[in-house]
Amino acid sequence: MPGIDALADRLSTYLGKDQINLVRRAYYYAEQAHDGQRRRSGEPYVTHPLAVANILADMHMDHQSLMAAMLHDVIEDTGIAKEALSSQFGETVAELVDGVSKLTQMNFETKAEAQAENFQKMAMAMARDIRVILVKLADRLHNMRTLEVLSGEKRRRIAKETLEIYAPIANRLGMHNVRVEFEDLGFQAMYPMRSERIHQAVKRARGNRKEIVAKIEQSLKHCLGVDGIDGDVSGRQKHLYGIYNKMRGKRRAFTEIMDVYAFRIVVDKVDTCYRVLGAVHNLYKPLPGRFKDYIAIPKANGYQSLHTTLFGMHGVPIEIQIRTREMEEMANNGIAAHWLYKSNENEQPKSSHARARQWVKGVLELQQRAGNSLEFIESVKIDLFPDEVYVFTPKGRIMELPKGSTAVDFAYAVHTDVGNSCIACRINRRLAPLSEPLQSGSTVEIVSAPGARPNPAWLNFVVTGKARTHIRHALKLQRRSESISLGERLLNKVLGGFDSSLEKIPAERIQVALGEYKVEVIEDLLEDIGLGNRMAYVVARRLLACENDQLPSPEGPLAIRGTEGLVLSYAKCCTPIPGDPIVGHLSAGKGMVVHLENCRNISEIRHNPEKCIQLSWAKDVTGEFNVELRVELEHQRGLIALLASSVNAADGNIEKISMDERDGRISVVQLVVSVHDRVHLARVIKKLRALAGVIRITRMRA
Ligand code: MN
Repeated sequence: MPGIDALADRLSTYLGKDQINLVRRAYYYAEQAHDGQRRRSGEPYVTHPLAVANILADMHMDHQSLMAAMLHDVIEDTGIAKEALSSQFGETVAELVDGVSKLTQMNFETKAEAQAENFQKMAMAMARDIRVILVKLADRLHNMRTLEVLSGEKRRRIAKETLEIYAPIANRLGMHNVRVEFEDLGFQAMYPMRSERIHQAVKRARGNRKEIVAKIEQSLKHCLGVDGIDGDVSGRQKHLYGIYNKMRGKRRAFTEIMDVYAFRIVVDKVDTCYRVLGAVHNLYKPLPGRFKDYIAIPKANGYQSLHTTLFGMHGVPIEIQIRTREMEEMANNGIAAHWLYKSNENEQPKSSHARARQWVKGVLELQQRAGNSLEFIESVKIDLFPDEVYVFTPKGRIMELPKGSTAVDFAYAVHTDVGNSCIACRINRRLAPLSEPLQSGSTVEIVSAPGARPNPAWLNFVVTGKARTHIRHALKLQRRSESISLGERLLNKVLGGFDSSLEKIPAERIQVALGEYKVEVIEDLLEDIGLGNRMAYVVARRLLACENDQLPSPEGPLAIRGTEGLVLSYAKCCTPIPGDPIVGHLSAGKGMVVHLENCRNISEIRHNPEKCIQLSWAKDVTGEFNVELRVELEHQRGLIALLASSVNAADGNIEKISMDERDGRISVVQLVVSVHDRVHLARVIKKLRALAGVIRITRMRA
């Protein structure tokens, strides 16, 4: 173990003489205070604070942090008061030591309330000076590195706490290197067998992969060389705990994870990053949807980089990260990189530092807003435990929801009535889709309208059981009222053929019919008709007490308005739109399904008045109707974008798109487009026809 002189030597590369002397003084003070104390390993206790200071020296932390590191266990372990430190080393250093001591006193295993208190202390200490947390992380890092001397139980407790509390904090502060070390050491202590098995497997796999890694590296370097770009190419290795988590969380096989080849390219400046991106995309085909630009939009912890995945030779996936040296430094050391840079050059604080401070500030604000500590811990968990999202009501109340929850889940969590009548939402005061997953920290406001009803499509994206149950229940009620009104229209249509209507039928006659059908009220009967369980034709005959089997078929078709709701649907086989000739097929329990008149699926029952009814489109029909188009066109770059903008130019919406490459030259694209009617569809098709290279457009129907 190198002593204080060795440390002083290292410090001289970036600290002044006076500052180094202060660090020395702190060391001697600690040595004396801990005199006679030993670590579990048998070494004098002071070797521990010295090691902690060394870790901070690696990060080029300032002299006050290093002094605090030297003294960090003095208050806790030797009974020396904070005031004594303050008069010896000044207020700032004493505050830092005090903050670290408070963090040390935390016991994260106690009950929720006590835990909340601990979080508070942590947050306060951090907010006063972020260096407290850095000293604490270094302290924990050294303890983790020397964990093996402890008993099994204590070792596991510390490891668990490290994995659950300190690794996430390191991550939050962007300190990748520290986090990885925490995770691997914690993993090893918690699950020695699993850790060892993965370690061995990784070693074996790396042996097998050597050749291919070298090949890819070679071709990447060559590729940069051709473009005259100066950059460092290096292979990246996943850490053990990361592999373990991926195997567990995403249920992937070990080989699947190891089959990915990961590289990093570090260059001089931002501009070069994008040039490198272009170069590697030229070398191998990029995997669509995998490109991420964290340079333009950094992660919350300040991380910046370009990410892309390529299909290498023989289709091996290659993950590439491209970043500048400075970003690399930030990615590895996060907030600590701030000091590293500050000591080298006279630069402005880096964004990571600013972001960390912002986080701390947010935590403090939360604390003031939340009344008690329990509520507070809920809100701090946002950042430490990402399985829940925490959002605010407009009045500042915190709502906890499962991850992936949407505004609809939120609305039902607030109140069932709010959920049932919700029509739109504002997230952070901006209108947002109801289906958008909520992010922690957002303020969510529900826009509701009296008489609004739940939408069946919500069931596709809600996450909470409460929302699901209430939507189903409301839909059931809604379906009943819509079935009744459709049933009434169908029945009146048939009665109209006889110059009659429901109103004209005497009440006694209706009562008799209800008795025969064994239902209580007329609504039940109408609902049955609307749902397709009873034929309007048959019921009409009964009501009219018509002996004759031959009831004239009703004059003129029933008009479809597009507002019938849940009891009316449009056939998926032929996707009719306003303007098309249509018929309605009544199927038991489902209500009416609208088909094209010449749809093959109903050709057999087309003229059966008990199953099919003639329909027309009402003049004021409203809504969006989906049609499927098949477009054959010559293959060209950016073809999807071209199609999309043409459809858009005709006010159409693309609902779905899929593409087959028929041969090298021709592509076949299937589009599902939503339009208002046939005229609108014609406009869309005309726009598509105008595109260069379009050979044929067909509307698909059964
Ligand atoms: Mn310590």
